[in-house]
Amino acid sequence: MSTEPRNIRDVVRFLRQRGELGLDEIFLERLTREQVLRAANEARAQASGEASGEASGEAGGEASGEARRGAQAERRGVPARAPDHGTARADASQPDDVEISAAQVDIAGLEYSELASVADCCQRCRLAEGRTRVVFSDGNPQARLIVVGEAPGANEDRTGLPFVGQAGKFLDLLLASVDLSRKDSVYICNVLKCRPPGNRDPMADEIELCSPFLKRQIALVAPEVILAVGTFAAQLLTGTNRPLGKLRGSVYTYEDVPLVVTYHPAALLRNAGWTRSTWDDFQLLRQVMDGS
Ligand code: SF4
Repeated sequence: MSTEPRNIRDVVRFLRQRGELGLDEIFLERLTREQVLRAANEARAQASGEASGEASGEAGGEASGEARRGAQAERRGVPARAPDHGTARADASQPDDVEISAAQVDIAGLEYSELASVADCCQRCRLAEGRTRVVFSDGNPQARLIVVGEAPGANEDRTGLPFVGQAGKFLDLLLASVDLSRKDSVYICNVLKCRPPGNRDPMADEIELCSPFLKRQIALVAPEVILAVGTFAAQLLTGTNRPLGKLRGSVYTYEDVPLVVTYHPAALLRNAGWTRSTWDDFQLLRQVMDGS
């Protein structure tokens, strides 16, 4: 009889069993990467059609806290749902009322919708020349958790959304393993909002020029926890240049917000040997979110 998981809940249950048993290979030993990605793919499709909260499985006891966060966020001008920075924006012409460039404005003083609009027109660094879309965010701007990645890739540049494609589906799966979902309980963005050509690494000056957007996003969303995925996000937010393998496994703070770091899911897909460490990092994340 086939042991292949049929949907996201099967995969999550399987991952947890493996994790609880302390097995080094969380899934790649008995479940191929293709099987995991296929299940994650189905999970993405299911999540888009499911009622709010069903996929995340977050405890009902958090509801009042979420409502309080929502009210506080609305006072900061942060919407309950992320504006569509993807398809809809691509079909729209540039907003008429945003004629000032990002270089001219005080990014630290912008409201959420202003920040997204200014980023959409940004020419602060060389990456503006080659981009198709600015990739601002996805998920819930009132979430307790922000996931910060590195930079858009080809799929993200095409769609205007962060973490799409295989790495994004894998991230969704890892989040689901600790009862989180980008639809309800996570806000996702990158250090850079525009794609570096050929998916090369971000350059130091690009990070410096773009990071005010991230800093302001974090201030406006006001998360309770930050997860940095990949070397560039981890080094920027921890303020160090230590390698990720040495950084992970500890809880840091960024502007007084607890910060956990882990491998980028794209790197994880290339190197299954980091699976155990990533699993541990997500358990640490959950512990921090639970306050334990
Ligand atoms: S990467 Fe950032 S700083 Fe550079 S053009 Fe895009 S939004 Fe502006």
